[in-house]
Amino acid sequence: MQFSEISGQEALKKRLIQTVKENRVSHAQLFLGSTGYGSLALAHAYAQYVSCENKMDDDSCGECGTCRKYSKLIHPDLDLSYPFFAKKADETAINYIEQWRSAYLKNPYLNLDNWRHAVGEEKKQANINIAECHRIIKKLSLKSFEGGYKVLIMWLPEYLDKQGNALLKLIEEPPEKTLFLLVSENQDQILTTILSRTQLVKVNKLTEADVAQYLITKKGLDEERAEQIAYLSEGNIQRTQGLIGEEKSNHFELLRSWMNVCAREKGLEIISFVDGTLSKLGRENQKSFLLYAINMMRESLLLKEGLTELVNLPELENAFAEKFSSMYNHQQIEAVIAEFEKASYHIERNANPKILFLDVSLQLVLFLEYQTFPKGTLYI
Ligand SMILES: [Zn+2]
Repeated sequence: MQFSEISGQEALKKRLIQTVKENRVSHAQLFLGSTGYGSLALAHAYAQYVSCENKMDDDSCGECGTCRKYSKLIHPDLDLSYPFFAKKADETAINYIEQWRSAYLKNPYLNLDNWRHAVGEEKKQANINIAECHRIIKKLSLKSFEGGYKVLIMWLPEYLDKQGNALLKLIEEPPEKTLFLLVSENQDQILTTILSRTQLVKVNKLTEADVAQYLITKKGLDEERAEQIAYLSEGNIQRTQGLIGEEKSNHFELLRSWMNVCAREKGLEIISFVDGTLSKLGRENQKSFLLYAINMMRESLLLKEGLTELVNLPELENAFAEKFSSMYNHQQIEAVIAEFEKASYHIERNANPKILFLDVSLQLVLFLEYQTFPKGTLYI
């Protein structure tokens, strides 16, 4: 991975390169920020830059033997660790390395759910177990194969649990020329003992322009669509995935139908919509749909507040948001947003979609009860 392959983050890239040039590479660093901001890819590019045999001023060369092995994640001095779904206590990340390499190389912005999906483990708990910690200690105490830095990239150290303490001594007194790059999404969930021994590299969310640029150059979207999706992405490339392709227009139809079904307050219709449609979407799609729905509701709220200049939606969606905001008051729209956010939280944590969407629908019936119009009035 070269820095040039990663969208945005130009200032951070410069800072990272500078640490190498000035010979002040800290041996234990914590890249903090969503993988969707590029945190994992940045750690990868940084490790490659540190090890490149022919560094350029602003990037690794991409061509030397080291770069070629690094870019495929097959360099013998590069160790990778990540949460996995152990079937037996003695399994380590190595058991899943082929799948992990392929999932990451296909999508360097992947999240834990994407990884879970790639190995078909929708339910099992993710973990970095004690066997994995012992494997790392053993591997890093070996001599470097090619004479350069030995690097450990650990993705999501928040899944270490207490076992992570086994690694402390290694982080505190590392063997010579060893680099620990931890890539975390959630500082609060990391063992404080580990946190206090690493230097923080904060990875901020991307700008809308950077996300749009990514969608145009890497996904072939036209400028207008790229900007619309970037606007919804919250600076997170991982989140654009569900919004690309046909899914986005489906999301709109789905949201409109759902709101209509709930507004009509017909129990059977609601059950059949939840059963036949919402619960069958698949978890990834449900999450991106809820994200989309939350954003549509936020747009309605902006319109309600008269902030039309902040709203940038295609015609049909804009008409929907306008109608919605004209029919419901502040509290109602906010209650719907809170309900969608809660649902999104639970879907992320593997709630049963049928029960969840039914529950949300019933809440919507309550929130959307409109006082002035006759019951069952459709808003669009
Ligand atoms: Zn190189």
